[in-house]
Amino acid sequence: MPFRALNLSDPVFRGVQAAGYTEPTPIQLRAIPVVLGGGDLIGSAQTGTGKTAAFALPILSRLGAHARGRQPRVLVLEPTRELAAQVETAFRDFARFTDLRALAVFGGVGYGHQRAELSRGVDIIVATPGRLMDYLKDGTLSLRDISVLVLDEVDRMLDMGFLPVVKDIIARCPKNRQTLFFSATVPPEIQAIASFALRNPTRIEVGVNRSVNQSVNHAVYPVSFEQKFDLLVALLAQANFDSVLVFSRTKHGADRIARRLKAANHSVAVLHANRSQNQRIEALAGFKSGKYEIMVATDIAARGIDVAGVTHVINYDVPENPEDYVHRIGRTGRAQAVGDAFTLVTPENAQDVRDIERFIGQKIPELRLEGFDYKPLAPRPPQSAPEKVRGMPAGTLRPRSGFRRFRSRR
Ligand code: AMP
Repeated sequence: MPFRALNLSDPVFRGVQAAGYTEPTPIQLRAIPVVLGGGDLIGSAQTGTGKTAAFALPILSRLGAHARGRQPRVLVLEPTRELAAQVETAFRDFARFTDLRALAVFGGVGYGHQRAELSRGVDIIVATPGRLMDYLKDGTLSLRDISVLVLDEVDRMLDMGFLPVVKDIIARCPKNRQTLFFSATVPPEIQAIASFALRNPTRIEVGVNRSVNQSVNHAVYPVSFEQKFDLLVALLAQANFDSVLVFSRTKHGADRIARRLKAANHSVAVLHANRSQNQRIEALAGFKSGKYEIMVATDIAARGIDVAGVTHVINYDVPENPEDYVHRIGRTGRAQAVGDAFTLVTPENAQDVRDIERFIGQKIPELRLEGFDYKPLAPRPPQSAPEKVRGMPAGTLRPRSGFRRFRSRR
């Protein structure tokens, strides 16, 4: 079915054409009629499936072509700054033939520019919860005119501890509104928010959120802990790559890998939550433009980032949650391109890999790099000082929350 048949407004349809989309993706086909009809929605879909357009296009169609008033009519909540910026860009692209205004507000940058933009009036706000709450509390912004509320990546918002503030924000929106809810998984905690925020929602599961993008070739490379970095360098040397995303479990690990890759003459950017907003913007822009051939990132920082042309994803560390495996390797092979995803596996991570295989319902091929001087697979030596957890004394190990346990058991 072509986009024309979906009854989007004329300027939004032209915006879609200008974006170069020819056919709607499955989530767009199913969600757009529901949202255009004014209904509430719980949607789950794999990243890279076109989820953003699935809500942005019908929302923009319903707003009409003209800006109105000063307070926003649409609020989209996102867990990270990068996602907020990306979703703002998508709204602006699709709305280019309207005079609707979309604005992202997120923390880590000054208030002045955002306040000035807000005072000019906006139709659509894309926000991270903390910064939005600042503007609600000081009266810069009101949610009284909100007619559509989008809660995106709800499982990740919960994981990041945003639940109380998200509930507060929902309570500040008018009761008579449309609510769209997107979450990769809907465990009981998330179901509870859904029941509180939504009315008679239509459930749309594009049932692939456990599955790996068909266009990704993925494999695990067993290696002992001491040789992980050497194998990474050897894989990079033999891979014909344009841009590589390397995932680390921890922020300090990401810094360490980046330092060593730089010393090995690679151009490297780093993306994680301890970096300043400007550093993150520079890293992403540099990676997108090709200035950096490699970006080393942690899961939360990289969640949802959309970089065209990532040819390889390398999991330097096996992800903690099986779901993150799907998210990580979904960074490559996007929009029908083919990508490779490699995971380095030390003996102590063997169980994590089995959990991932169970989660995605398939066995991941195991490979050895030819010509690499493998040492016998030895267990990891005793760990050095653990990474400090924010808000806890140094040396406190990150607790595994009930939510994480719930997810990793499945
Ligand atoms: P998302 O899942 O929203 O992050 O989208 C993933 C990528 O697919 C983005 O680069 C979109 O621009 C692109 N995309 C979304 N919908 C379509 C479509 N119907 N046709 C082609 N590309 C699309």
